[in-house]
Amino acid sequence: MKQTASPLELESHLVQNLVEKQRRFFATGKTLSVEFRREQLNRLLDALLRHEQELFDAMYQDFRKPAFESFATEVGFVEQELRLVLKQLNKWVKPRKVKETLVNFPARSYIYSEPYGIALIIGPWNYPLQLVLNPLIGAIAAGNCAIVKPSELTPATSEVIARLINATFDEGYVSAVEGGVRTTQHLLAERFNYIFFTGSTPVGRIVMKAAAEHLTPVTLELGGKSPVIVTEDADLDLAARRIAWGKFLNAGQTCVAPDYVLVHEQVKEELIEQLRLTIAQFYGEDPASSPDYARIINDRHFDRLSSYLQDVHVRVGGQTDDTARYIAPTVVDQVTWQHPIMQEEIFGPLLPVLTFNTIEEVIQTVNAHERPLAFYLFSQSQELQEEVLQRVHFGGGCINDTISHLINPNLPFGGVGSSGMGSYHGQQSFDLFSNQKSVVKRGTWLDLPLRYPPYGNKLPLIRKAFKWL
Ligand code: NAD
Repeated sequence: MKQTASPLELESHLVQNLVEKQRRFFATGKTLSVEFRREQLNRLLDALLRHEQELFDAMYQDFRKPAFESFATEVGFVEQELRLVLKQLNKWVKPRKVKETLVNFPARSYIYSEPYGIALIIGPWNYPLQLVLNPLIGAIAAGNCAIVKPSELTPATSEVIARLINATFDEGYVSAVEGGVRTTQHLLAERFNYIFFTGSTPVGRIVMKAAAEHLTPVTLELGGKSPVIVTEDADLDLAARRIAWGKFLNAGQTCVAPDYVLVHEQVKEELIEQLRLTIAQFYGEDPASSPDYARIINDRHFDRLSSYLQDVHVRVGGQTDDTARYIAPTVVDQVTWQHPIMQEEIFGPLLPVLTFNTIEEVIQTVNAHERPLAFYLFSQSQELQEEVLQRVHFGGGCINDTISHLINPNLPFGGVGSSGMGSYHGQQSFDLFSNQKSVVKRGTWLDLPLRYPPYGNKLPLIRKAFKWL
């Protein structure tokens, strides 16, 4: 008697089929032409612009994300990346000539960028669009096929993303698969040629383990506790504005959001006062009624964040409403590293303010913890800025600002240590999704006998040749 397949087997079968289809598509060599890639990127741009309002509505439905933020941090951000890649791609795809060595004379050496093959892109919920589309742009630009798995925690947005992708591309070329943990597990069981994962550090470990099974290269864009340092000479009014903007954007649910502040103890009270004024300027006296302030993504995160408030001293905000999953922009103090709020990435609108006395203390404290994804320093002293930049380990960051390093597509974006590995954006994305093939083209008009046996007394000559750089 024939047995019917379980839903689990069916899903696994569908995923296998899709990967197989993409393998066949890639093998046709269609993606190797730069014209083909440009055409696909233009289709994506066109689809993005056509779906803009739908995406705004979906993100509002998922976590009340304001349209301004949905444009600036999602649709507009992706559009900017697309336009940059379309402008530069013809240049990037060319083999890059590198300097020659004497030992190889006569020769010319090149780096050829070739696509890996099929890429798997797994996204988180907090910037549900840009964190799957920006890697996809890199994958397409470099000539790969790709399967995109958006987050299940933003169902409305993920549905629009999947529809947009699946209506724009041949599924054998680029396809979106919706689903949660189980779907991701099915995908991870398959053999891909590249995996690009954005999400939490614990899931990053799971992804890397699965990738190791097939020796698939991975990029991990993870999280962590990103500090903000404010020295006694900082412009406090400006610092408060830039910290509050970076922290309360997306209601604090940003991977590079300032997680906590370390402020010189002499200026702590003034900074907190400036933060209070700034929050009122940004969101009014009752931020719950502001149209410019998002909500917490789900009950689990709402409960986790609310529980942090139990044993800290609230200086600004602190109000919560579980029916709306609203947590006010909040500043807390009297916090130690032993408090739960300091034990993991906060990922919400709660800002602990801790103090320091000397910059050496700051360097030692930050370096004693996991390497953060982002690091921000507010200080007027260039000498101090350079010392801190050299000695503190982190993925990327800003002096006298927050988040803006992520906005410049000419800067590679990524973490280090437990905040991730590999970086992307702009040309870095193209390079990331390309295998860099080294090729030496030897001349045939001369064949120096130096390297061939018998070696006789050629040792001093080869020594000299190696010194020529
Ligand atoms: P998450 O790790 O829970 O989920 C990310 C993706 O992994 C989702 O698509 C989910 O379906 C999948 N997933 C979840 N559990 C899985 C499992 N057990 N096995 C296989 N797949 C699984 O992350 P999240 O909650 O969506 O996002 C928040 C985290 O992402 C934060 O830590 C944040 O700092 C980080 N993040 C990092 C960046 C960055 O660029 N470095 C950007 C945004 C978010």
